[in-house]
Amino acid sequence: MTVGYIVTLILLAIINFPFVIAVDWYVRRPNTKFVYKVEPEPGQVSREKRSAVITTPVHALLLGGFFLSGWLVPAPETLPTIASTFLIVFFWTEIWHYVSHIAMHTKPLHFIHREHHKSMLTNPWTSVSFSFLEKFIFSAGIIGFVAILSHWMPISFYGIAAYYVLYFYTNTLGHANFEFRKPHYYESWLGKLFNSPSFHAMHHARYTKNYGLLTPWLDILFGTAWEDFSQVQTRAAESKPLTRLREKATPI
Ligand SMILES: [Zn+2]
Ligand SMILES: [Zn+2]
Repeated sequence: MTVGYIVTLILLAIINFPFVIAVDWYVRRPNTKFVYKVEPEPGQVSREKRSAVITTPVHALLLGGFFLSGWLVPAPETLPTIASTFLIVFFWTEIWHYVSHIAMHTKPLHFIHREHHKSMLTNPWTSVSFSFLEKFIFSAGIIGFVAILSHWMPISFYGIAAYYVLYFYTNTLGHANFEFRKPHYYESWLGKLFNSPSFHAMHHARYTKNYGLLTPWLDILFGTAWEDFSQVQTRAAESKPLTRLREKATPI
């Protein structure tokens, strides 16, 4: 394992925290366009911080473990290999997260996901608040998949690491209970490809549907998207937040 890999793993273990602190600071500004204007639960953030300390380094530990054990064979680090690995991890994670997330919403597996759903109103710290087992399953599914592929095709360490940086940052935004896209975002071509933060805020507030990670297409394809997700996005973007967690948005 090279010095570059070791430094990257150390950074991956901690980099989510500055993202959370920065986004937390950002959404405290006046004029933030909230998705839900609801009073937060007392003690929620302290609980989220406690579970974050245990679970956030899991990704880096697993990635390092797969490389050290030889289960994941690193390819020479070239730009095409880094880019192709990043894309493979991106698409596979969308599928893996969607399937495993729905599985964790079934009764036998819900105990794994319970910690994360204690937060009905999300904030940036919710993005790092999980049970150890949930983060382990999430990352083992990602790295295990590319480890198998690495015996047949070139898989780059930095391509995987780059995906994790994107995931940490966008996942923090996705839990920040604010909207930064313009009204009617889901009618645009970009909105057909990527979620905005209101999408996952609805999942926490209502507990079901909107299971996707960074993209809405699996929820749309399998009919698991909330029918008013576009209206909720537009309301938030127009500074007309929902005022109850169970509130539905009427067509605009
Ligand atoms: Zn869930
Ligand atoms: Zn969440």
